[in-house]
Amino acid sequence: MASINAFEIAKQQIDKCAEILQLDPGVTAMLKSPMRELHVSIPVRMDDGSIRVFQGFRVQHNDARGITKGGIRFHPDETIDTVRALAAWMVWKCALADLPLGGAKGGVVCNPKEMSAGELERLSRAYVRNVFQLIGPDRDVPAPDVYTTPQIMAWMMDEYSMIAQKPQFGVITGKPLSIGGSPGRGDATARGGIYCIREAAKVLGIDMSKATVAVQGYGNAGYHAARLCRELLGSKVVAVCDSKGGAICEAGIDAEVAYGCKASNGTVCGMPGTDRISGDELLELDVDVLIPAAVEGAITAKNAGAVKARIVAELANGPTTPEADDILFQKGVHVIPDFLCNAGGVTVSYFEMVQNFNLYPWSEAEVRERLDKKMTSAYHSVLNTSRERGINMRQAAYVIAVERVVEVMKLRGWV
Ligand code: GLU
Repeated sequence: MASINAFEIAKQQIDKCAEILQLDPGVTAMLKSPMRELHVSIPVRMDDGSIRVFQGFRVQHNDARGITKGGIRFHPDETIDTVRALAAWMVWKCALADLPLGGAKGGVVCNPKEMSAGELERLSRAYVRNVFQLIGPDRDVPAPDVYTTPQIMAWMMDEYSMIAQKPQFGVITGKPLSIGGSPGRGDATARGGIYCIREAAKVLGIDMSKATVAVQGYGNAGYHAARLCRELLGSKVVAVCDSKGGAICEAGIDAEVAYGCKASNGTVCGMPGTDRISGDELLELDVDVLIPAAVEGAITAKNAGAVKARIVAELANGPTTPEADDILFQKGVHVIPDFLCNAGGVTVSYFEMVQNFNLYPWSEAEVRERLDKKMTSAYHSVLNTSRERGINMRQAAYVIAVERVVEVMKLRGWV
């Protein structure tokens, strides 16, 4: 993650799109520049009495289409440039899903795996105090991302409400159900990706009930993807991995057993009946569907040539570098690009905002049905654009999203 500069990649992707759309250089420069960013130093009292200062960021990339939206990531390798890239990708994600939202992202350089619940709570609350001026239900609405949880969202919502001196449930999404969370938000990112895989399989003529799947990363997105591949598509997950390594089993891996193993041992490695495999080996397995669900930079010029999957469904943000994109496209691999494949999370976050604004919760069935419609329609518009223009799926997704953002920028008189 550290060796690849995600923001450079995000900017290269815009340049490529600008070339396809023949955008004005000034407009392209605007699309590549974050509108606003805040860098904060967050002192936190640790359990041993010492004070540690954490670096935190909130970046709002573009709010032409509305209130900015995007998660907060707690990660030891976080940098301002990863947050900038992720904020830009949120803009294209929201536009592609046709949500009336702009894009933002937050991050704190920390390792939650080495922090107690108390330390995490104090860090979460302190982060909100530090970025209070930038966020708000009618301004910028954060959400969970890598290593941040519904409980963290609850603390952050509470801290914001305490400062605002009124309940402000709509300041953040991905909250627990009992305090304004949306039914279906927990597995929304994975579920949205599974709907895309279902559509792609129909188009490519793959029978998903006979298909094999490998999942890289076993956090919220990876675990639910493994579970839903079996539940919704009847497919067999043959390999899973996390940051410590992976497990493979031809007969199939039970998502719940892998979840239990990770919960008790901190890793999916070593499940009974499985063989050990590295994360790198997993990416090159001969499977029908590969789901990168970890962090940026998994598929690069180095290993893209060895990817054997027919479908690469990017649940992670930025798992494939531009060089790898070209290699996969030439090989005929069907890539479902990140800001299409993982748009289910922010889509249900948007549903959560709507429910919070209206003080009227929806049923889980309603959430799922609306999510399916959004994802299916987004998938097919990307596929059609890709075929019409003879460009890859990522470029097609960019073309649709960027055209939508630029149209609004024009209507608002910005360009
Ligand atoms: N962190 C998720 C993403 O990257 C969700 C963002 C949100 O719900 O606002 O899409």
